[in-house]
Amino acid sequence: MGRNTRVVIVGAGHNGLVAAGYLARAELNVTVLERRNVIGGAAVTEEWFPGYSISTCSYICHILQKKVIDDLQLRKYGFHVYPIDPSRIHPFPNGKMVKLWHDDTRTSEDIRVISPHDADAWLEWADFWHRAVRILSDYYLTPPPSLAQLTDRFRAENEEEILETLLTVPLKDIINHYFESDEVKAMVSTGAFDMGDISAPGSAYITALYRYSAYREDTENYGIVRGGMGEITQSMARSAQAYGASIRTDAEVKRILIGNQGVTGVELVNGELLEADIVMSNADPKRTFLKLLNGSGLDTDFLGDIKSLKTESASAKFLCSLKELPDFSAYLGSEYDPKNLAMVCICPSLEYSEQSWIDSKNGKVSKTPIIQLQIPSVYDKTVAPEGHHVLSMWVYFVPSSVKDGSWSEVKQQFGEWLINEVCKYAPNFRDAIIDWTVLTPEDIEDRIGLTDGNIRHLDMVPQQMMSRRPLAGWSDYQTPVKGLYLCGAGTHPGGEVTGAPGHNAAHVVLEKLGLTV
Ligand SMILES: Cc1cc2nc3c(=O)[nH]c(=O)nc-3n(C[C@H](O)[C@H](O)[C@H](O)COP(=O)(O)OP(=O)(O)OC[C@H]3O[C@@H](n4cnc5c(N)ncnc54)[C@H](O)[C@@H]3O)c2cc1C
Repeated sequence: MGRNTRVVIVGAGHNGLVAAGYLARAELNVTVLERRNVIGGAAVTEEWFPGYSISTCSYICHILQKKVIDDLQLRKYGFHVYPIDPSRIHPFPNGKMVKLWHDDTRTSEDIRVISPHDADAWLEWADFWHRAVRILSDYYLTPPPSLAQLTDRFRAENEEEILETLLTVPLKDIINHYFESDEVKAMVSTGAFDMGDISAPGSAYITALYRYSAYREDTENYGIVRGGMGEITQSMARSAQAYGASIRTDAEVKRILIGNQGVTGVELVNGELLEADIVMSNADPKRTFLKLLNGSGLDTDFLGDIKSLKTESASAKFLCSLKELPDFSAYLGSEYDPKNLAMVCICPSLEYSEQSWIDSKNGKVSKTPIIQLQIPSVYDKTVAPEGHHVLSMWVYFVPSSVKDGSWSEVKQQFGEWLINEVCKYAPNFRDAIIDWTVLTPEDIEDRIGLTDGNIRHLDMVPQQMMSRRPLAGWSDYQTPVKGLYLCGAGTHPGGEVTGAPGHNAAHVVLEKLGLTV
């Protein structure tokens, strides 16, 4: 096998498309099959209301790897970011507010109004994470290191204590060590996206893995994508096609086919068979092994481990069209720049954020979910009619399924509750809305194909990260079935729109074939 190798990629999520781009660039014969009528997976823009286009799922480009952008020439194929600074504003019910700037000193000065102690602590806090992230980020575009390798590296850099703190001290304790004010504690607690249990050891480690974005150098790639997140995947598709990849939509794979020597191809839902030397699955690990392979070629231990993978962390989306902007002047003054509304985070207290996790774990729709509100049209005029806007809220934590009842019963009420909540900060919000809808975790599962609506394919918890993602012994993108690879967010370094799993998986395939790009 070499340049004539036939590769089928199951799924046109951004990681499938990145893998396609690298493999097509190396002149392999690449076909991408997407079950939906639109490519992109969770990085997709759709016209939710006539004339109003919204990023259905992911909404902020904060961690897409520069190497991937450059290697695949995404800017040439239409990718464009409006960098945002402040990256978020955090209004609080007591009328106070913090703006989070890329410049730590500037954020610190904002915090000084709330607490001089926390203003100084902010610089020490930022330094702690910068030092952790500087080392961890080196492992983004490589297969993951073992814990022993990671420890050696931190030790070699005289930063062993940082790793020890990350692994053993819960995030909540670190927060309480640095800060005294409720506002700043609340603000920093929102960064533990998957580790809702911020009292658990390992929650700081996971936060550090996410903080790649918060402390990245290339702020020009942090922001709102022109045309929504779907333009990332459209540019990836154009790039892959220019290198010769073929991309088919409405092409759902029913089964991955295997023979004595490993993978042989795929069967589509319409009965069509496609032969392949290599199959890469962009679908999540549970879907890949339990549905598409239906357990074939796998031993019972492996299957048991796959079934036990955690997919408990879920979130919801609220999408709406607006005839005017929500009025945050109580926080920003009457003459404020609308660009401040690009990202607004609502989380009044540390207890509030903890409660949302406790409720979701117990199958309850919380009355205290963290809300990340985004109005991309303050930058991007292409997504709404002139003078109008689109707004989305990413809401976490919510249960993947509701214990006493069902999502369909509570969905409308949940949307109404979210609107009322935002009205506490921007009183005209309800009147400004033209139309709205809510996507529950069940809707996200049906639409995007994510098991349990899990936005990162698998929970990002310490036991499912680095050399244990998706499973210990299988973090190199290969699987027990020869010729079958994983390339999605269920592999290292995990979820978010990074391009990293697709990049890494493609490079493992090329190395196996003895090819370089
Ligand atoms: C609500 C929500 C909000 C988010 N917010 C952000 C954010 O703001 N920023 C950020 O960086 N990340 C965010 N994320 C996370 C990020 O979007 C995902 O982690 C990432 O997009 C996953 O990419 P992927 O390519 O690995 O997989 P996916 O995007 O899941 O793509 C998998 C693809 O495979 C297809 N597929 C599955 N089964 C089959 C089959 N049998 N046949 C053919 N095709 C199949 C699916 O249809 C899908 O297109 C968010 C995600 C969600 C859901």
